[in-house]
Amino acid sequence: MDANMDNAGGRLQIVKEAIGKAAETAGRDPHDITLIAVSKTRDFEEIRSVLEAGQKIFGENRVQEAQTKWPAIREDFPDTELHLIGPLQSNKARDAVTLFDWIHTIDREKIASAVAREMESQNKILRCLVQVNTGMEPQKAGIDPTKAAEFVEKCRSEFNLDIQGLMCIPPIEEEAALHFALLKKIAEKCNLPVLSMGMSADYEKAIAYGATHVRVGTAIFGPRDYS
Ligand SMILES: *Cc1c(COP(=O)(O)O)cnc(C)c1O
Repeated sequence: MDANMDNAGGRLQIVKEAIGKAAETAGRDPHDITLIAVSKTRDFEEIRSVLEAGQKIFGENRVQEAQTKWPAIREDFPDTELHLIGPLQSNKARDAVTLFDWIHTIDREKIASAVAREMESQNKILRCLVQVNTGMEPQKAGIDPTKAAEFVEKCRSEFNLDIQGLMCIPPIEEEAALHFALLKKIAEKCNLPVLSMGMSADYEKAIAYGATHVRVGTAIFGPRDYS
């Protein structure tokens, strides 16, 4: 396909090429980096063009919104993998476990416990990441970086969750690299292989710092319209 900036399929191709280059520059294998196409606010038609361009892994940040779109989309595209990348309330744990394959936002015991309970009752295992509030922003979700290692251990031993790694969203006004480096350091300490970090503005930088999963919306779908 032509790398064409006018459509989502073309922009997807451009992002994939940029991921390949960033991996190469960092001396990493591009296959070790997973692109999650973030489809929040996008309708079926917009998502379909990206599915038809071959993308199989998508991220949504709201359980309710994802529920209105993905069961129907998956009838046509059954082999898609869905990642929850936004905050989870415990009263949405059941729906989240039903719909998603991964949850990136485990950040407190109440959620860890609710997700564990639902996985058991639905007999389904989701891969989980612990969200770390690397900027210690009071309004932002995520566990405090100093408590992350202990929390990861607890998720494993007490709740039996399949914790694969860590996720962060750096503060907008700060140098993202500092936060990527901190997340990597905590992951190494915990012996965790997965690092979900990097969005449209900084995924190449995140790859330089070891990201294994980048979450890219705008660079694929174009600017979001929240109206
Ligand atoms: C929306 C969102 C993204 C994608 O952001 P873009 O800047 O559009 O690439 C990534 N991660 C999370 C948690 C998001 O909510």
